[in-house]
Amino acid sequence: MMEKKAAKGAKPKRYAMVDREHCAACGACEAVCPRGAVSVWQGSFSVVDGALCVGCGRCSAECPASAISMEVRA
Ligand code: SF4
Ligand code: SF4
Repeated sequence: MMEKKAAKGAKPKRYAMVDREHCAACGACEAVCPRGAVSVWQGSFSVVDGALCVGCGRCSAECPASAISMEVRA
């Protein structure tokens, strides 16, 4: 069976995903996101707006709790 391949030269589209169990609600991700795509919800944990996230990975790099992983969009 043939697997569907990405268009030649196209980067895989990614998005940030927060592990709420590990998020310390520090706000570091919110501070570095260039798109305003991630914010701390009611002081509890951060939430990513997948429609705004461009998958740059800055939030993941800055998170002191390693609570943000970059996932490939389906
Ligand atoms: S990956 Fe980039 S655009 Fe997406 S939430 Fe993180 S900092 Fe914002
Ligand atoms: S940087 Fe990490 S620990 Fe801090 S609010 Fe964002 S996801 Fe949570």
